[in-house]
Amino acid sequence: MSGGVRIALVLPDLLGTYGDRGNVLVLERRLHWRGIPSETVTVLSSSESVPESCDLYLLGGGEDVAQTAAMRVLSRSPGLQRAAGRGVPVLGICGGLQVLGAEFVTGDGARHAGLGLVDAVTEPAADRAIGEVTAECLLAGVGMLTGFENHLGRTRLGPGAMPLGRVTRGIGNGPGRAEGAVHGHVVCTYLHGPVLARNPALADLLLEWAVGAPLQPIAEPAELAALRMERTRVRARNPK
Ligand code: GLN
Repeated sequence: MSGGVRIALVLPDLLGTYGDRGNVLVLERRLHWRGIPSETVTVLSSSESVPESCDLYLLGGGEDVAQTAAMRVLSRSPGLQRAAGRGVPVLGICGGLQVLGAEFVTGDGARHAGLGLVDAVTEPAADRAIGEVTAECLLAGVGMLTGFENHLGRTRLGPGAMPLGRVTRGIGNGPGRAEGAVHGHVVCTYLHGPVLARNPALADLLLEWAVGAPLQPIAEPAELAALRMERTRVRARNPK
């Protein structure tokens, strides 16, 4: 990783609702605060190919049509799938979660194959899940997750995936209180926010996987203010 951490922002022209692109800014800034250089590679739907040499891949949310178009691009050029197969971390949000799963059904009833990187199947529900979410993260050291959800799909996990968290408020994947999915270093969530701005411990876990070493804590005033704000949000959403 001589030139720094290479972050792939995958198809932001298709998958990038609710400011998911902000996740890349969070990762860049957290590396910068630690003196670690980074380079962001933006993969647009018009790009010739998806690189497989990046250290971390980000996919945001998108509506059904955009999601289906993203599937076409990613299956044509399987750089992301190859990198994930080597254990490179991938974060998929909302529509990105559904694309990383085994299969998703769009609102019109059409069934689509996903990339199959996580054991998850998504089908539309009668109503959209919209609002604030809190969930206890099942990955060690991350703590409470918070974010904003807006999706029609409900996701069932198979035995090959574990939930990212247990919902304490909101809908997440749907019945069963699961939120998101994890398989190896592929992490999926329904949370926008951007999720890594609202959950810096999750950002650091992905960065540790990308760098392959523990990272120093950050004591910037901006970081401390953001953590205070998140604690206030969690308390407001989960009154005792
Ligand atoms: N099309 C998906 C759904 O509604 C994802 C929506 C999104 O990414 N915001 O379930």
